[in-house]
Amino acid sequence: MENIREILGQAENAAILGHVRPDGDCVGACLGLKNYLANLAPELSVRVYLEEIPDSFGFLKGAEEISHETSDGTIYDLVIALDTSDRERLGGFGVYFEQAGRTVCIDHHVTNQGFAEVSHVCPDASATSEVLYTLMDDGLVDEAVAECLYMGIAHDTGVFKHSNTSGETMRIAGRLMEKGINFSKIIDQTFYEKTYRQNQILGRMLTESVLFMDGLCVFAAVRKKNMDFYQAKAKDLEGIIDQLRVTKGVECAIFLCETAPQVYKVSMRSNQAVDVSRVASFFGGGGHVRAAGCTMAGSVYDVINNLSKHIEEQLIEAGLWREGRRA
Ligand code: AMP
Ligand code: MN
Ligand code: MN
Repeated sequence: MENIREILGQAENAAILGHVRPDGDCVGACLGLKNYLANLAPELSVRVYLEEIPDSFGFLKGAEEISHETSDGTIYDLVIALDTSDRERLGGFGVYFEQAGRTVCIDHHVTNQGFAEVSHVCPDASATSEVLYTLMDDGLVDEAVAECLYMGIAHDTGVFKHSNTSGETMRIAGRLMEKGINFSKIIDQTFYEKTYRQNQILGRMLTESVLFMDGLCVFAAVRKKNMDFYQAKAKDLEGIIDQLRVTKGVECAIFLCETAPQVYKVSMRSNQAVDVSRVASFFGGGGHVRAAGCTMAGSVYDVINNLSKHIEEQLIEAGLWREGRRA
């Protein structure tokens, strides 16, 4: 695929889907594509389906029209899945995918399973929002589209600093800046700004974090009862894993969030030595080399134990760890 135009065909209506617990890239990509399609093919009727999004993304054009309905009965000529590596990650919105006339997936996950009829996956791209820009005619990218894509790229690169940031990422971001967007505001309000509640949980998780494997790894876990106490939602936990990762000396950080009794959503981040997408894939999840996730059952102790076996193997391969101690 070289251009978004190619995938439209004779479609009269289309749905755009993302992954469960949508993050900045997912929301930016979905709304960026919706706003672009309004410029490219105004006659095409397009609806975006996503789970609830953070309030701070509400300023993006089209955010208010996102549908949270998992089965409104509409059957679409075309369904485009964005930033989603496997069928399960579509969550309840998978029904639209199953019934679609045609399906397309645009993504950047190295673990993408090619579950759509047409898949366009660029594992070297920092974000799905970056991939999308390369498939767009620049002349049709207006300020509203640019705001969405810029936010998506800024989020998946941790504001242009993660190792997935390339020269190409910066060239595209630069082009998007030239569309007149308020890039400082987008980054401050959607990335750095935290609610009081988010800060409280972040502080608690840092206090309760545990270093292990002689300081090469760190983990923290939030229990369901803590979530209830703070009246927190999954979206309030963004950024905790990033703070754990920058603990001095740490190669691999793990954050667990209990989503049901003894069921944990696992987030992993690595600095250099560990390919966390390999670890996550082993447990049925996926992601990228430096950022990946999965869902696991058991106690916190069980989950950390199971993960650390795989992390340990990789640290040994990297020469950083020997049987039971730091190399
Ligand atoms: P997170 O820790 O949730 O920010 O996720 C980090 C990366 O791993 C993201 O790119 C996700 O798309 C991916 N990821 C997280 N959880 C899963 C999962 N259960 N299955 C596949 N990919 C996942
Ligand atoms: Mn994502
Ligand atoms: Mn992404």
